[in-house]
Amino acid sequence: MPADRPGLTGTGLDMLSPHPIGTLDFDAVPVTADDVLGEVDRGFRVAMGTLNLFRPSVGAFAVGMARAALDATLAHTAGRDAFGGKLSDLQAVSHQVADMALRTEAARLMVYAAATAYDAGAPDVPQRAAMAKLLATETAQYVVDTAVQLHGARALRRGHLLEHLYREVRAPRIYEGASEVQRGIIAKELYAAHQEAR
Ligand SMILES: Cc1cc2nc3c(=O)[nH]c(=O)nc-3n(C[C@H](O)[C@H](O)[C@H](O)COP(=O)(O)OP(=O)(O)OC[C@H]3O[C@@H](n4cnc5c(N)ncnc54)[C@H](O)[C@@H]3O)c2cc1C
Repeated sequence: MPADRPGLTGTGLDMLSPHPIGTLDFDAVPVTADDVLGEVDRGFRVAMGTLNLFRPSVGAFAVGMARAALDATLAHTAGRDAFGGKLSDLQAVSHQVADMALRTEAARLMVYAAATAYDAGAPDVPQRAAMAKLLATETAQYVVDTAVQLHGARALRRGHLLEHLYREVRAPRIYEGASEVQRGIIAKELYAAHQEAR
């Protein structure tokens, strides 16, 4: 319904990182048949269809955060003097950077696969969307956390890119279905396909 409908009010929520979200209160808000989205009593299907699109989108957002953290880490570790060389000369550091890149690329490809399946109207979209969202958001959390570690204390200063990403990366593992919910969807789809194949 339009936001200016009488009786509809909202309160913004102050979150770990700024998000334009809030709680809505409905007090005798007038509605008409014109306000119905989709078919009556089929709302769950509309909501789930929306999530099939939004989950790869959240995955893409997460991949972007991981990519930004990786780029910052490459620049920092290649330039930071430590123990007579650069941080990147230390195998313990460079192998962490390799893992960050490896997992970011895997997440990116899975997001693309889910988006491609959505565009093609493929039957396995729910599973692919859940996999992409799960892998990308969990990967972004790992990559941003590792980036903070490899930057040291400077990453924790207010206003640093990684301080921002560290706060921003947390919510996507919860919204559009928490990671546990994505695992539940993936398993459900797998068992349904298994039953069908028998
Ligand atoms: C930044 C942000 C933006 C949001 N935007 C929107 C929005 O635009 N629209 C909207 O409607 N909502 C929005 N939400 C709400 C979001 O969808 C919910 O927070 C999310 O679905 C989890 O629900 P909950 O917080 O009630 O936690 P609960 O449902 O209480 O779940 C808490 C925890 O329990 C576990 N859990 C829950 N269910 C299961 C399960 N089935 N299996 C296993 N474990 C489970 C998970 O660990 C989960 O994190 C937003 C939230 C955030 C943080």
